[in-house]
Amino acid sequence: MIDLVFNSPEEEVDFEPINKHQLTLFFKRDDLIHPFISGNKWRKLKYNLLKAKAAKKTHLVTFGGAFSNHILATAAAGAKFNFKTTALIRGEEADNQILGLCRIFGMHLIFVSREAYKNKERLYQQYFKNESQTFFIDEGGYGEDAEKGCREIISELENSYDYLFCAAGTGATAAGIINGANTTNVNTEINIVPALKGGDFLKPEIDKLLITPHPYNLHTEYHFGGYAKTKPALIDFIKDFSQKTGILLDPVYTGKVLFAINDLANQNYFKPQSKILMIHTGGLFGILGMLEKFR
Ligand SMILES: *Cc1c(COP(=O)(O)O)cnc(C)c1O
Repeated sequence: MIDLVFNSPEEEVDFEPINKHQLTLFFKRDDLIHPFISGNKWRKLKYNLLKAKAAKKTHLVTFGGAFSNHILATAAAGAKFNFKTTALIRGEEADNQILGLCRIFGMHLIFVSREAYKNKERLYQQYFKNESQTFFIDEGGYGEDAEKGCREIISELENSYDYLFCAAGTGATAAGIINGANTTNVNTEINIVPALKGGDFLKPEIDKLLITPHPYNLHTEYHFGGYAKTKPALIDFIKDFSQKTGILLDPVYTGKVLFAINDLANQNYFKPQSKILMIHTGGLFGILGMLEKFR
């Protein structure tokens, strides 16, 4: 049975810099779902794994960068649910904490040039065309099955909120949240914070996965220079938050989202007395490769 069977908790987070604007902050703690099959990566894998089992496939093949939370989640999920796993990793042979954990979970890693990586379908054919047991999962888990899993972030909610915030990389999680809000008639303003520079490119990626159009805001100005890029202001903010709450944020995704909430609160973006929910999408092992920034 493929399930990790629990609804991640919703909890109030006391953080004075936001509370002082008469705002209450809540986290949906998807970071607590599983240490390695973390956060939205579990949501995005779930229906892929069910489909792979139903089709009697035994080998998951996926794609990502050398610090990908999705790669680690696939490695751990494969081990837990009895699939062989292979990942095609973008760029020259690398070794880091994330890939080390993937190897412990038994994942086979294949490093491919950035040029070859661009055409994933061709790569898949090249390596696996004679295998009948493989199941293709796109980079970052992006796709309809990922979106479907992420709708459950909304259907699980026990309380209502005025504003919801979530990070975006491929946009599949955002699309799931928007579809979830749409189908359950949740009347919350949805705010998406791209982790990459030029985040407007996400709009078509999100819209492609929407069941019907539904309003949402993209806050494209909180990328801090681009994907996995940081600035001292972001690092200091994350440290301050973690020291005040005991909750970790990563500088790639969730740190940028809470920074955005805090910055918008300072600009009086929110109606006073509002309840704000941030989806903590997990992925905290990514911090291990960035610890020197926190010195
Ligand atoms: C992968 C990831 C995201 C981005 O999810 P998408 O569905 O690709 O937009 C957000 N937060 C964390 C912590 C992640 O690991």
